[in-house]
Amino acid sequence: MYDLIVIGGGPAGMMGAATAGGSGRKVLLLEKNAVLGKKLRLTGNGRCNITNSSPMEDFPKNIVNNGKFMYSSFAAFDNVRLINLMRSLGVSVKIEKGCRVFPVSDRSTDVVEALWRRLRENNVEIRLNTAVEEIMTDGGRVSGVVLKNSGIIACRRVLLATGGMSCRHTGSTGDGYQMARMLGHSIIEPRPALIPLLTGERWVKDLRGVALENVRVRVAIGGRWAEQQGELLFTHFGLSGPAIINISSFLSRNAAFPLEIKIDLLPHFSEEQLTGRLYACMEHNRGKYLKNALAGLLPQKLVPPLLEKAGLNQQKQVDQASRKDIEKLVQTIKNLSVNISGFRPINEAIISSGGIDTKEINPSTLESKKIKGLYFAGEIIDVDALTGGYNLQIAFSSGYLSGASAAK
Ligand SMILES: Cc1cc2nc3c(=O)[nH]c(=O)nc-3n(C[C@H](O)[C@H](O)[C@H](O)COP(=O)(O)OP(=O)(O)OC[C@H]3O[C@@H](n4cnc5c(N)ncnc54)[C@H](O)[C@@H]3O)c2cc1C
Repeated sequence: MYDLIVIGGGPAGMMGAATAGGSGRKVLLLEKNAVLGKKLRLTGNGRCNITNSSPMEDFPKNIVNNGKFMYSSFAAFDNVRLINLMRSLGVSVKIEKGCRVFPVSDRSTDVVEALWRRLRENNVEIRLNTAVEEIMTDGGRVSGVVLKNSGIIACRRVLLATGGMSCRHTGSTGDGYQMARMLGHSIIEPRPALIPLLTGERWVKDLRGVALENVRVRVAIGGRWAEQQGELLFTHFGLSGPAIINISSFLSRNAAFPLEIKIDLLPHFSEEQLTGRLYACMEHNRGKYLKNALAGLLPQKLVPPLLEKAGLNQQKQVDQASRKDIEKLVQTIKNLSVNISGFRPINEAIISSGGIDTKEINPSTLESKKIKGLYFAGEIIDVDALTGGYNLQIAFSSGYLSGASAAK
């Protein structure tokens, strides 16, 4: 009889299994793929942004939904412990822009292999190509699991760590939601998060391939503004790039499309500074067309749609530009609006927002409040964060706490 069966060999499941195994429990890890950590291998463009080195107090600010639920998990296993664990397993790390932590080798497979070694060291039995269909209970307690290709395995406890709904080919197909639902758990509908946005606006598509290094994107949700700063990329379907990917998470569960987002193309200038800058630019470029004069300030391809949005004639010359025209330009550059019609499909999302309702999980142990001996970890829980390594830290921290709790 196993003390613990862990369903799902992603970062959360591997960490949970290794932690419980390290406490001397008899642990079985079941993974439906032929390899462990299929999604983990893809993370950070194959480089794996394992965590963020900023103080843990700053983590909740980067968690879009249910950050408070994570307090106990973060207290049990924070970013320093994760980095130390990685080092002890032979994975040295480096810190990049935005305090993002990566393996020095730039290889996510090193992280997967390190976790694999940890599982072996802690005597965790691993079965690959093994999909679980159902969790069995007896009198409100976990009693075992039913495998997809028939077969039952008895156990005292189960850790459900089957991930979310994005990137289905990695194995995250939402099986865990169904298993939890069958046991009476409520699922907050999974929706795409950290995902590019669609628009029907022609001028956006015409700019495909143009990247803006530093813009501020804002969107009004429920009477409040969500804001993100960073790179933006125009694509054939709409908008992408880090600033857009991050702002999309605020729209996941609250947005009613179509909606308008506002882009500040030059966030480092106040309106006053930009006005001054534009006057200086006009002074410098007397005799030229307005569209050519603006080229030093913004990418050339962006200028015609910008002038159109500002209601200014493409043939207007600098010398003809009035004070009102400059005001219109400033407003358009600081508040360029794009009508958003929806998200790209959930399969293309970096994560899904939604999952097991946190109200039904004890945050101090990650045990179900409905079924004794059932634990949850990782993306299956209704917690989601911005990019920067926060989502993997959530997976590792909740994996650790659930494994430690299940081993008690
Ligand atoms: C392209 C991409 C890049 C990303 N980059 C980063 C990054 O750099 N940094 C970061 O913090 N986050 C990143 N993320 C997010 C991060 O990968 C996830 O948050 C994390 O993998 C969630 O871990 P998990 O263990 O909960 O779930 P998963 O990693 O999805 O693992 C779940 C596992 O459960 C298995 N499983 C599912 N159903 C069953 C079943 N019925 N029986 C048995 N096994 C089952 C699956 O096969 C899978 O292996 C990225 C995501 C994507 C898609």
